[in-house]
Amino acid sequence: MHIEEQPKKKRNVTRRQKKNLCEMTTCHIMNPPALNYSSNKPDIRGDDFYMWVNTNWVSDAKIPPYDTDYGVSDEIEDCIMKTSIRAVKECVSGAYKGTGAEAIRTLYESFLHRGKRDIDFLKCTIHDILSIHSVEGIVRHFAKLTRLRFPSVLQIQYSSYKTGMRKVLSILPDFPSLEEGFFSNSTIFNGYKHMLRSYGAEFNIPDLEKVAQIEKSLTHRFIPYLTVDAPICFGNGHTFAKKFRKIPWDVYFEELGIVNWRKTTFEYNYPTFLRKLGVALYEISLDKWKLYLCKLYILSLVEFLPGKYDDIYIKFKYLLGGQKNPMPNMNLFVNFIYNYLPDTFSRIFWDFCGDEARIEGCKELCKDIQRAARIRLKNTSWLQPATRLAAIEKINKMDFLIGKPDTWEVDTFPIFSEIFLENMFLLGDSSTKKIFERVKKNIDVWEQGIYRVNAYYYEPFNQITIPFGIITNPYYKEGKENRAWNYGSLGFTISHEMCHGFDEEGKDYDSYGQKNPWWTRADNKAYNKKTNAIIKLYEKQDIQGKHLNGDNVLSENIADIGGIGIALEALKQDIIRRKVSIDKEKDEYREFFISYAVGWRNKYRTNKLKSNIETDVHSPAYLRVNLVVCQFDEWYSAFDIQKGSKLYIDEEKRIRFF
Ligand SMILES: [Zn+2]
Repeated sequence: MHIEEQPKKKRNVTRRQKKNLCEMTTCHIMNPPALNYSSNKPDIRGDDFYMWVNTNWVSDAKIPPYDTDYGVSDEIEDCIMKTSIRAVKECVSGAYKGTGAEAIRTLYESFLHRGKRDIDFLKCTIHDILSIHSVEGIVRHFAKLTRLRFPSVLQIQYSSYKTGMRKVLSILPDFPSLEEGFFSNSTIFNGYKHMLRSYGAEFNIPDLEKVAQIEKSLTHRFIPYLTVDAPICFGNGHTFAKKFRKIPWDVYFEELGIVNWRKTTFEYNYPTFLRKLGVALYEISLDKWKLYLCKLYILSLVEFLPGKYDDIYIKFKYLLGGQKNPMPNMNLFVNFIYNYLPDTFSRIFWDFCGDEARIEGCKELCKDIQRAARIRLKNTSWLQPATRLAAIEKINKMDFLIGKPDTWEVDTFPIFSEIFLENMFLLGDSSTKKIFERVKKNIDVWEQGIYRVNAYYYEPFNQITIPFGIITNPYYKEGKENRAWNYGSLGFTISHEMCHGFDEEGKDYDSYGQKNPWWTRADNKAYNKKTNAIIKLYEKQDIQGKHLNGDNVLSENIADIGGIGIALEALKQDIIRRKVSIDKEKDEYREFFISYAVGWRNKYRTNKLKSNIETDVHSPAYLRVNLVVCQFDEWYSAFDIQKGSKLYIDEEKRIRFF
C-alpha cells in the first residue's frame, strides 16, 4: 500500500578521512544539549521533555524544500548522501575504478539524457497494456511488474524460513493503491484524481482518472484479506493451480521465467485474497484492470520522467506532504543507485567510508542489550513462567546482521541501453534473476544496502538487521565515555526492534520464526490489559485537533516502552560492572534520556503531520519521547521531576512492559 514507493584492493583512504562520514556544515545541530540544565532555558523538563532537550535544534533545523519532514535519520542521510554523491562523481569521472564504477557511469549518461525517448518507451508499455484482450494479459503484467521490481498485485520475493535456513520464493499478494486512509480525505482524493486526469491527458488515456474510484471500491473489497494476521503457507505450483484455479498461473510463472513451477515450493500468504482476486479478475471489466495497470507503471516511473511529467506528481506530493520542490537531480540519481544497485554500491560506499571499529562497537552493544533483555524477561511477572522461558529462548535465538555482509557479491550487470527507463527495466529484471539464483544456491541476502539509516526486525527470520549507515553519530558515538549515550540511542533502537518479537505480531512467531502463537490465555489477558492502557494514553493526545488511532500505533508504542525498559537495564548492568559512583550514575541516566530525546528530534510540515495521523504506524516523534520517558522511575530521579509537572504520572499508574 504505497503511493510514494520509488526509492580487492583497498583504496588509499586514511582512517581520518573515513571518519569524516558526517561532513556536517551545520555542526551545532549535531551537538547534544548540555547536561547542565540550570542554564537560561526555561525549566520545562517535566512538562515537555522533548522540547526541553531539543529547543535549539527545533529553532535552527530546516526542512529541505523537497522533503516533508526532517529529523535525525535525515541528518545522517544527508551526510551519507554527500559521501555517496562524492563516490558517484568519482565513479563517473573515472577516479574510482572497477566494473561497478563503469556501470554507474553508463547509467549516469542515460540519466542525464532523459527525454522524449524515455516518454516513448513508457508509451510503448502503455500501448501494450491497452491492447490486452484477456485476463491472461492482465496477469502477465502482474508478473512483469514484480519482475521489474515495481509494486504489483502478485509480488514475488526472496524468503527463507529458519529451520535449516532453506531459501524459498515467496508470493506476496498486495493491492498497491492510494493509502486507505486517504479515500475519505476529499482534498487528497481529489488531488489524486486530478493527477491521474493530467497523466491521462499526457499519455492519451482519457479514462485514467477513473482509477481513483476503481481503487476506492477495490480497496474495500480486498484490504480486509490483506491483514497481518494471515498465516504463512507453503505450496507448490500444483497446489496453486488447484486452490486458486481462476488465476492463470502458467502465464504468471512463464512471464517470470520459472519453468518447473508446478513442482517448485513457494511460500505464500493471504489465501482468501488470492481466491477473491481470482473472482475479481473476471468480475471486474478488462478495461478497468487495464487502467489500473497503466497507473501502476506511470507512478512507478514518474519521478524519473522529465519536466512537466514530474511537475504533475510534485503537485500531488505537496498535498500529501507539503513539499514544493522536486528532489535535486544528483540526489535522485543516487537514490536510484541505492535502490537498484544495493550490492554494488554498498561495496563502493564501504571503500569510501567503511569503519570496522564502529561495527565492532555495535556488536558489543547488541550483546549487552541481549543480556539485558534476558534479565528483564526473567523478572517480567505478568508473563507466565513457561512463556518467560520461551521469550528468553527467542531472544537467545535472535539473529543479528550488523554493519555489512561478510562477503561481497560479485558484480554482474545487463548490457545497458541509452534510454534511462529501459535501463531501469533491465536492472529490475536482472535483480529478479539474482533473487532466483540466490534461492537456488541457498545464499543469504542483505536486501537493502549498508548505507541505509534504518534498523529492522523481520519475524519470519527472527532477525535484526543494523546496517552500517545507522551506526553513526548521534545514534552511536565512539569512545568508552559515551556508553550511556549509546544505550539511549542505538542501544534503544536494538531493543525496540527486539520488542517487535513480542508485540501484536511477534507473539505469534516462535524462536524459529515459525508462525506458532506461543502465549497462553493468561499472558494474552495480562498483555491486553497493558495494551488497553497504552491505546487510551495515545488516543487522548490532541494533534492539530486530530487524534491518533491507538490500535494503529500500538505495536510501535509497545516497542518504544518495552525497548526503553531493556536499554535502561543494559545501562544499569553496565553501571554495576564499572562500579560508577552515585553522583556519576545520575549523570549517566540523564545522558541516556537526553540521547533518547535527541534521537527523536523531528520537524514535520503540517500536511505531513496530518496525513501521518491517518496512515503512519508510528506516533509523532515528540510523543514518542514525552509519553515514554514518564513511564520510568529512572527518568523522575535523574531529572528530579516532581508531582505537578505536566508529564508526571503517579507511580502505580506508570506502564512498564519488561
Ligand atoms: Zn518499530
